[in-house]
Amino acid sequence: MTVLHESPAVPSQSAPSRQVAVTVGGATVVVPCPLWCTHPHNEEYRSLADVWHEGREASLAVPGSPEQAIGAQITSWPYAGDSSTASAYMSVFVMGADYLEVTPAQAIAFSDQMVACAADLRSMAESIAS
Ligand SMILES: [Zn+2]
Repeated sequence: MTVLHESPAVPSQSAPSRQVAVTVGGATVVVPCPLWCTHPHNEEYRSLADVWHEGREASLAVPGSPEQAIGAQITSWPYAGDSSTASAYMSVFVMGADYLEVTPAQAIAFSDQMVACAADLRSMAESIAS
């Protein structure tokens, strides 16, 4: 059984958030979780420094490739002791891909995906821009 009282003092975050209970070293600790976070926080953390938040992923696949060509995600590690990752930041990844031949229909669909991905990237960036 977990205990929700006697939680260690946890610094608050400036972004809009909700409270979530996480398990740290066998104890339940209530921490602020930013509204953009989609992580379930159902794992057991060894220390509070291991608690991270992550948002949904915006990604784009090249037609004919099984891998995502580009993606982005908002992440933060509020208690890890690194000021560069304590506040929300955006991770962008790009995977290598061979030259792929696509049909006009695939090219149109790919263009539509890029527009949607660009809107997602912009929306995510605007959600954490100060
Ligand atoms: Zn979270």
